[in-house]
Amino acid sequence: MEVKKMIRYLTLNVSGTKLTVDKKFERKLEKIIRDLQKAREIIGEVADEIYVFRKRDFRKAARRFAKFAMSSPNVVATTEFENSGRKLRTRIFVNASSKLVRRNFKGVLAHEFAHIKQYKAGQAIPLPRFKKSLPAEAKQFAMILLNQLEEILADSLLPAKTRNKKNREIVKMLIEKDELAHPLFLLALKATTKLSAKEKEALEEMIRKSAKSLKNVPFPFNPVERLYTKIFEQKEIKQSDIPLIESVLNLLIERLYGIKNACRFN
Ligand SMILES: [Zn+2]
Repeated sequence: MEVKKMIRYLTLNVSGTKLTVDKKFERKLEKIIRDLQKAREIIGEVADEIYVFRKRDFRKAARRFAKFAMSSPNVVATTEFENSGRKLRTRIFVNASSKLVRRNFKGVLAHEFAHIKQYKAGQAIPLPRFKKSLPAEAKQFAMILLNQLEEILADSLLPAKTRNKKNREIVKMLIEKDELAHPLFLLALKATTKLSAKEKEALEEMIRKSAKSLKNVPFPFNPVERLYTKIFEQKEIKQSDIPLIESVLNLLIERLYGIKNACRFN
């Protein structure tokens, strides 16, 4: 007897983008397509393939995000870049089961398209060389900071209205869930979002709590905030920013882990 594979996905072509949607979201298909087109108009960029998955499939696809998992309980979408020869292929995976995506699919997609735009503009975050003796924990901390710079760059290309809507939704979800996100993630959220006085206060309280749970030493907030704000306003990382990124990273690691000159770019 032949066993037929159940068809779980709908695949269609939306102006050149291959869109794959879990059948679970079939009823939302029209809105998904509309939001895709709006997000493309906003950013002027689009992915080659977009996968709209339920949570379980998204987790599988986003495994490469494991190293950043602790930075945010709210990773709801990810973009993969594949270079084969001269050709770049981009794939976006979206967790359509998440509340943020359900409430703001357009904003989430626009953010991912912005990652693609930054990538094509050559805005890749440089990787430092770490001291050999540096503990894995400190290295991971540095990687989270660099990863957040990438998030800030993407967000900087969103129109203020789209960005604030998406990020305020994230802040609200964090408050509702009372989940402790990484202070570097929260500081990035603070640098990129216009909040009400009440929301700002709640976010700052979360940042303090989160920094305290990380290490019981004074967390150097100001240099991180200054760096984040500078990159956000510039919408790019210039060669001249590299020494600043290096000094902020080294300062943080020295304060939190007691190791001097932990990393070097070049
Ligand atoms: Zn992102």
